[in-house]
Amino acid sequence: MTLADENRKKGRLFIISAPSGAGKSTLCQKLLRHFGDMVYSVSHTTRVPRGEEEEGIDYFFTTRENFLRGIEAGEWAEWAEVHGNYYGTSLNFLEKKLASGTDVLLDIDVQGTEKIVKHYPDAMTVFIMPPSFDSLRIRMEKRGTDSQEVIARRLENAKEEMEKKDRYRHIIVNDDLSEALAQLTALVKNCRMEKA
Ligand code: 5GP
Repeated sequence: MTLADENRKKGRLFIISAPSGAGKSTLCQKLLRHFGDMVYSVSHTTRVPRGEEEEGIDYFFTTRENFLRGIEAGEWAEWAEVHGNYYGTSLNFLEKKLASGTDVLLDIDVQGTEKIVKHYPDAMTVFIMPPSFDSLRIRMEKRGTDSQEVIARRLENAKEEMEKKDRYRHIIVNDDLSEALAQLTALVKNCRMEKA
């Protein structure tokens, strides 16, 4: 490693959590488009692909067996069981990107956030709230990719997650998408300026 490499600033970690149906994926995509030098940490999951999801873009879809092997091997920076499936963040990816000075965006649940913040206390954490609880069900039904049983389970989980929103540094209510995006963009911009 050269001196220039060593002196290079480490990247920053931005964590976004939200209950299913709060519009988090759309906000993350738009945020990444806005900050072209920020990368998205594609999680690994044992969930089956939904709708048009693509391998390596939305998730790395894997088997339960492989995922559990990854836990044993210490491959996950954090992992959690959410809605009956496993989800995990690659430690190798995270460390490499941060070390090279690249900012990383994580879209993970509340359990995962708590684990990450223990290791990376400077991470900026944002919780996206829906305008109402009912709007979550309506959005999930509109999406049309989940059964009623899955939707019911996700709504139950949403309630628990929303009760923990105060553990996050920032809370944004996604009532109006462009307004929520403006707030999120401003938070990220401020954080980048603080640590520049
Ligand atoms: P979905 O199945 O709707 O894509 O995601 C379900 C939940 O799992 C969401 O709250 C999402 O943020 C979370 N999730 C996605 N990837 C990860 C991950 O790598 N780790 C953790 N802890 N949660 C994740």
